[in-house]
Amino acid sequence: MASHQTETSARTRPQQRSTMKALVFHAANEIRLEEVPIPRAGYGEAVIRVTLTTICGTDLHILKGEYPVRHGLIIGHEPVGVVHELGPGVTGYSIGDRVLVGAITPCGQCHFCLNGHWSQCQGAIGGWRFGNTINGAQAEYLLVPYAQANLARIPDELRDEQVILLADIASTGFSAAENANLQLGDSVAVFAQGPIGLCATLGAKLRGAGFIIAVESDRARSEVARKLGADLVLDPNKVDVVSEIKKLTGGGVDVAIEALGLQQTFENALRALKPAGTLSSLGVYSGKLSAPVDAFAAGLGDYKIVTTLCPGGKDRMRRLMELVAHHRIDLSPLLTHNFALDNIVEAYRFFGSREDGVIKVAIRMPG
Ligand SMILES: [Zn+2]
Ligand SMILES: [Zn+2]
Repeated sequence: MASHQTETSARTRPQQRSTMKALVFHAANEIRLEEVPIPRAGYGEAVIRVTLTTICGTDLHILKGEYPVRHGLIIGHEPVGVVHELGPGVTGYSIGDRVLVGAITPCGQCHFCLNGHWSQCQGAIGGWRFGNTINGAQAEYLLVPYAQANLARIPDELRDEQVILLADIASTGFSAAENANLQLGDSVAVFAQGPIGLCATLGAKLRGAGFIIAVESDRARSEVARKLGADLVLDPNKVDVVSEIKKLTGGGVDVAIEALGLQQTFENALRALKPAGTLSSLGVYSGKLSAPVDAFAAGLGDYKIVTTLCPGGKDRMRRLMELVAHHRIDLSPLLTHNFALDNIVEAYRFFGSREDGVIKVAIRMPG
């Protein structure tokens, strides 16, 4: 008999339970923690037992009904866990492996994936599956599609809390500077210092920006921005941000990062650029977005506008974990509060109302 691992049936841990707790979206402003079946791994899939997850700003949009998902969907897209079941065809992993899975789960095979556009897997925004088109991570167990491309083993020396924020906000935030092709010594302005904006500030520092200006009015967030690399923070309620940035940089920044998703910040980011600068946009916009021609030099200013959805896949996660393992980054100041899964509905309210300087909440599993 062949001894190599040509798996024809799923490998799993002996299972005592068949149901789990999960946060289910029903309608706008209606989410409930419910008992639902534990998923089973099919071909190429894995099930992980989630050990830590968190809530994203995008989840708040879903909760408010501003981003539509189907009734009955388990939401959440930031998982750390332990391999619980491996479907046929998934090789090189064992039950019990600790893994980080990115918010974006590319197939690794399609035209977009093979050209490096993992987030657009199989079509626009197609790589974002968890808590969008398939059940998500705010649950005790999570079905991971395309497991071979998406299970990133966590080095033993790293704790769950050190890697959970890599799944989405760090990957997204850092990509702003990467996709802007930020050069050593470039000047950068980062508009808004929410969780993703803060990671964009840190990403600009990592990429070797010469001068980083953060734009934020919240005092607690401004303080964290300085810790993560901002040279100074401008309060848009107190100063004319665009003219201040132009004054400070002698005519505008090389790279402006938009991390809020509003017409106003998009426009300010564009106006803060020097000619031939790059607007790197991370925000999620709604309605209509317009570029005023004066800020755009009538289309003749050689401006570049790039947008990025969170890069995913196991190698992206591996690279980000390298940054943690070798102390290039420390995201722990961002994980400010703890909640048990049982209290996740309260955690949404707390996170959504930005109480107590909250930046990200850790959602811990029972047991
Ligand atoms: Zn997110
Ligand atoms: Zn793909």
